[in-house]
Amino acid sequence: MTELLAPDPAGIARAAALLRAGELVAFGTETVYGLGARAADGEAVARIYEAKERPQFNPLICHYSSTEAAFRDVVANDAARTLAARFWPGPLTLVLPRREDCPVSLLAGAGLPTLAVRVPSATAAHALLQSVGEAVAAPSANRSGKISPTRAEHVMAELGGRIAAILDSGPCLVGVESTVLDLAGPPTLLRHGGVTREAIEATIGPVAEATTPAAAPRSPGQLASHYAPRLPVRLDATSVRADEALLAFGKPLAGAGAVFQLSLRRDLLEAASRLFEGLRALDAEGAVRGLCGIAAMPIPATGLGAAINDRLARAAAPR
Ligand code: AMP
Ligand code: MG
Repeated sequence: MTELLAPDPAGIARAAALLRAGELVAFGTETVYGLGARAADGEAVARIYEAKERPQFNPLICHYSSTEAAFRDVVANDAARTLAARFWPGPLTLVLPRREDCPVSLLAGAGLPTLAVRVPSATAAHALLQSVGEAVAAPSANRSGKISPTRAEHVMAELGGRIAAILDSGPCLVGVESTVLDLAGPPTLLRHGGVTREAIEATIGPVAEATTPAAAPRSPGQLASHYAPRLPVRLDATSVRADEALLAFGKPLAGAGAVFQLSLRRDLLEAASRLFEGLRALDAEGAVRGLCGIAAMPIPATGLGAAINDRLARAAAPR
């Protein structure tokens, strides 16, 4: 059963409590309805992909109640501070380097060293984020491949029964997604949205536009900068050598030079929440121990397994 909550103090308190407990809650922003999860909780974030049936781990936008809170998780620069002062709260998302001590799960950022952050202006969303008191990761609250929802009824129709609650704050005012601007390098527009390019350029000067297919914002998995381990990855391993690191799923194969367990009990939610951490850990350990590759044990292609296998296949593709 999905609870439909009113945007009053009781409804907001209930929504915040569910989020803090690792549940999924959809909430209205000025752009579209977002499907929120506690960003620091990898399993809660994995539930987003499960509920949306997203076949890929795309990076999600982290939502905050204030600029100050957002800039505690990422390294802001002058352009970011200027744009935040001018457009936040509002429909602008900034991509910036994660801070070393950023508590947001690697899964929320799809393993990237950067994080997309935003401070929404919608009253109920703001109250909710303030009540949660930490980052809420949220993509649009629709099933993968469907249109972004701008009313609670849309969310209920697609995700009802799969998520804990919907905070019904009425129709979204802007109705288009947030503008996504990458400020981790030279300012680059990754997605057009609620704040126009002209308005951004009037504030910080010229911005480039991501035009190549490789940089298309809808397929961040193809970005060259997308996290891939340095070590070559071997898929569906049924045996492992001493000079390989093992990405284990269930009872580990014997004889590996290093092991990272995704989920001993073969739980796909747990495995998804630990995937990027595992690839990073094995890469680092492999470098220290002079290992020459990562052997990944087979993972079922059902449910979240599709997105896990998609990421592993990309990591294994020749570069
Ligand atoms: P959605 O959450 O469905 O509104 O989509 C989020 C958008 O932000 C997608 O276009 C993502 O590719 C983009 N995005 C999120 N995080 C990053 C990041 N770290 N680097 C580049 N693009 C990002
Ligand atoms: Mg979407």
